[in-house]
Amino acid sequence: MPQPETSLMNRLVSLCKRRGFVYPASEIYGGLNGFWDFGPLGTQLKNNIRDAWWRDMVDCPPIGPDGQPVSIVGIDTSIIQHPKTWEASGHLSGFADLMVDCKESKKRYRADHINVFEVTMRDEDKEEKARLFFSYVEPEQLNEIVAGLIKRTKKDSQYYLSFERHPRNDSEKYCREEGLANNFLSKIQSDFILIERPFTALNAEEQAKVIGPDAKNAGTLTEPRSFNLMFNSYVGVFQNEESKVYLRPETAQGIFLQYKNVLDTSRVKPPFGIAQVGKSFRNEVTPRNFIFRTREFEQMEMEFFVPPEDGMKWYEFWVAERLRWWGEMGLSKANIFRHEIGDGDRAFYSAATADIEYKYPFTDPNFGELEGVAYRTDYDLKQHQTFSKTNLEYIDQEAKTRYLPHVIEPAAGLTRGVLALLCEAYQYDESRASPEWLKLKPSLAPIKAGIFPLVNKDGMPEVAEKLFMDLRKTHTCQYDAKQSIGKRYARMDEAGTPFCITIDGDTLTSQNVTIRNRDTAQQEKVALDQVKSYLSTKLS
Ligand code: ATP
Repeated sequence: MPQPETSLMNRLVSLCKRRGFVYPASEIYGGLNGFWDFGPLGTQLKNNIRDAWWRDMVDCPPIGPDGQPVSIVGIDTSIIQHPKTWEASGHLSGFADLMVDCKESKKRYRADHINVFEVTMRDEDKEEKARLFFSYVEPEQLNEIVAGLIKRTKKDSQYYLSFERHPRNDSEKYCREEGLANNFLSKIQSDFILIERPFTALNAEEQAKVIGPDAKNAGTLTEPRSFNLMFNSYVGVFQNEESKVYLRPETAQGIFLQYKNVLDTSRVKPPFGIAQVGKSFRNEVTPRNFIFRTREFEQMEMEFFVPPEDGMKWYEFWVAERLRWWGEMGLSKANIFRHEIGDGDRAFYSAATADIEYKYPFTDPNFGELEGVAYRTDYDLKQHQTFSKTNLEYIDQEAKTRYLPHVIEPAAGLTRGVLALLCEAYQYDESRASPEWLKLKPSLAPIKAGIFPLVNKDGMPEVAEKLFMDLRKTHTCQYDAKQSIGKRYARMDEAGTPFCITIDGDTLTSQNVTIRNRDTAQQEKVALDQVKSYLSTKLS
């Protein structure tokens, strides 16, 4: 099947705009970097994913390792909490990305996203001539670079070329770069020794010689500077250090602050979970890739409190369960990856962490984070206990013991989940009325059924309207009597609507309607009075 020239992401972004899934925020003022608004279809899709998560976490949680349903309750805490919260959680001191600005390209990078290649050149006598540090290059630049290398060798100076690379591969350019870098590497490996190093591992003198990822000249990158990711504001009339507050960078801390109240007021005891869905804010250094990394986003987080000795058992349980859940939402196995975070890369308090990653078009063939499942031990409760001087221990009356529970946290991005599901659903097929269409899981689709009178006369609209008035009570439906039937199908395909119900001349006599299936484009006759149960069965 021929694919259009424009990249999949560009097509998806424009489909999202055109059909009202996602718009740039503040667009009439030129937009605001890192902020997006959800349109009517996007809001519905996001709510459907959120509701599915809530249902599977809170209303009907999974069956635990002991064969019993696990116990989870939901809460909704404030976006702004006491500023001490962020001192205790470590966000105030530790939640800072090091960033690097490029004076030449005016671009800003996370320091940990920049890697450099360090090349050691040797002459025929294997004597070291020069060390160069450089990134990937376009193939056509290869000769130029090699020629440059030789020239520079003569000068016996050092250069470093850098490239942007996210440790979890979410850089748009990463894959392309890596492919080319490998290509380059194989060409020059015979003559040079090449080592890849993170920018942050270079000393200041070396850093000053790096040629930035989008620059031509060396030495245009600033030293890495810390950049606190929390947005702040002030409460009350006076704006000073005492009145300073922060917009939460994650929903999790609100859960820890209320853990004791929940324990005292609900009939829960470890192992149990507290779930929350809501907005989080991070002043990301480099918001990018549509709604993948934004400055305002939504999270679906659950803190699962367990007796310390059961931590690893529940960690394994939740990683498996969350992988299964994303599969059930429609992500194919081939596109999901469990990335176990190694000892050196985990937060110091975490006993185990796995990222659930998705193969986004901009990371392909690699993966980028969708959800993190972290075994956080008793770190958060211990910190809040110390900072608040409040005892947060759980007292087990039966066993006559008291302890700080350990916590397993599955933390998913809701807005990032919308993106993953849209990427997965996007289809391109020129033989269809609308070449672009969305193969969303029917229960997540913003509109479940389109209801069309074939023509807007001859008694058909009356029957169609009556059916619509009935179906709308149980399913999100759309009535559409305008344009040709083909155009109406096409509009519904683009919105990901799984079923289109047409009332035609035959309906008036036989009492049958035609239901078109989005995925197969096949049509079948269904009795008018069976449509409701047909939809309920197909959507359950
Ligand atoms: P990343 O490494 O991508 O910055 P993170 O490890 O900091 O993410 P967590 O703090 O574990 O992310 O947050 C849990 C989830 O929240 C992530 O898996 C992601 O889905 C979502 N998330 C985090 N930051 C953003 C953001 N800026 N925009 C959209 N979603 C986000």
